[in-house]
Amino acid sequence: MSKTSYNPFQAAQKQFDHAADLLELNQAARDFLRNPMREFHFTIPVRMDDGTKKIFNAFRIHHNDARGPAKGGIRFHPMETIDTVRALSMWMTWKTSVVDIPLGGGKGGVVCDPHNLSQFEQEQICRGWIRQIVKNIGPNSDIPAPDVMTNPQHMLWMLDEFETINGGRFPGTITGKPLGMGGSQGRTEATGYGTIITVREALRELNIKPENTVVSIQGFGNVARYAVELYNKMGGKVICVSSWDNNDQKSYAFRKKEGINLEELTEITDSFGGIDKNKAQDLGYELLDGDTWIEQEVDILIPAALENQITEKNADKIHQRVKLIAEGANGPTAPDADEILNKQNLLVIPDFLANAGGVVCSYFEQVQNNMNYYWSKDEVLAKLDMKMTSAYASVSDFAKQNNVTLREAAYLISVDRVANACQSRGWI
Ligand code: GLU
Repeated sequence: MSKTSYNPFQAAQKQFDHAADLLELNQAARDFLRNPMREFHFTIPVRMDDGTKKIFNAFRIHHNDARGPAKGGIRFHPMETIDTVRALSMWMTWKTSVVDIPLGGGKGGVVCDPHNLSQFEQEQICRGWIRQIVKNIGPNSDIPAPDVMTNPQHMLWMLDEFETINGGRFPGTITGKPLGMGGSQGRTEATGYGTIITVREALRELNIKPENTVVSIQGFGNVARYAVELYNKMGGKVICVSSWDNNDQKSYAFRKKEGINLEELTEITDSFGGIDKNKAQDLGYELLDGDTWIEQEVDILIPAALENQITEKNADKIHQRVKLIAEGANGPTAPDADEILNKQNLLVIPDFLANAGGVVCSYFEQVQNNMNYYWSKDEVLAKLDMKMTSAYASVSDFAKQNNVTLREAAYLISVDRVANACQSRGWI
C-alpha cells in the first residue's frame, strides 16, 4: 500500500478544523490549537558496536500543556517524520482530554530501526535522547512513555539517564517503566484492554453479545495482543491478526477460522510483533497478504498497528457483516475514508478514545510514583475499566444527543475542554 502522499499532520489538522467549526472557536483558538506549542528537533550521536559513529535524528513535541504536563510516547521508527510526531502529539492532547486526566499532549520519536540495532546501541540512543532534551522534560513539564517499538527497558534507560543528570530519584518523569522499578501493574495490558472495554460498551449498546462475534485485528504488537487476550476472556473470537515481516519487508495476515490461539502465536513472535510465517503455517494458520485483514468476514475490525491504514482505496473492501471498528492504533483512518465509513453506517470508536487505556494507566503510574505506594493489578484494572467506561459513555451520550458520530463527539468534548483551559489561562 503506497502511503507516500499521506501527511498525518494535515489529517490531524483537518479533523481539528472540523471540530473547531462545530464549536465555533475564535481565530486565536484555532491558530493556537492547530499547531504544537513547542517543538524540539535534535540529533543523537551514537558510537555503534563496530566503532563507527552514527547520527540519529530525533524529536520531541509539546502540542499543548494547558490541562497539565505534556504527555505521550516516544516512537522508534525508520519512517518517522516531524509531521507524524506533530500529528501524534496533537492526538495525545485530545486523548488525555477525552478521558479527563490532568495531562496535556506530547510525542517524541527517533528515526531508527531497532531491528538493526543491538541492545547496547539502543541504550545509547535512549540515553542520548534524554541528554538532548533533559531541560524540557520532567514530572511537571513533560512525561514520555513507550510507543511503537519502544518498551519498558527503553524507558528505564531514559529514566536512569535523567536521574543521573539531575542527581536524585524522579520516577514520575517517565511512565511505562518495568514492574519493580516504578512501573504500574497493568500498564503493559492497558492499551489493548482499554480498546476492548470500549468495544464491550459499544456492543452492549448495539445489543450484541461478544460470544456471538468474530474479530479481525491489524497488528500483533502490544496493543493487539492484549486486545486478543481480553476479547477471548469475554468469550469473543479473533480469527485474523497481521504482522510486519522484517525479512520480506512486507506484512502478512494470519487467519484461523476457528479462532487464533494467542499463546501459540505469541511463542513464535519476535519482540517487535513479527510472527514467524513458516512456523505459523506449520501450526495451521492461513498465510494471507497483510492488507487482507480489512476484508475479513467479521463483526469487528481493530486496526492496531500504524496510522493511515483505512483509506479511500480499501474502505469499500470492508465486509458488509462488519458493524464496529475500534481504532487501537493512532490515526489508522484517513479523513476521506472516514466519510466512506460513516455512509456505510459503521460505528467507529475513534482512536484517541479507543486507545486511551495506555495513557490512563500511565497517569495511574505517575499517581503511584508520587505516593510511593503501589496498587495491585486488580485495583489498577478496575480503575482503568471505570475511566474507560465513563469516557465511552460520555462520548456516546453526546453523540446521540447531538446526532453526530462518535469521532465528532469525542473531538467536541476534548477540544472544548482544552480550549476552555487555554482560555482560563488567558492564552486565547
Ligand atoms: N504511546 C501511548 C499512546 O499513544 C501511551 C502514551 C502514554 O502513556 O503517555 O497513547
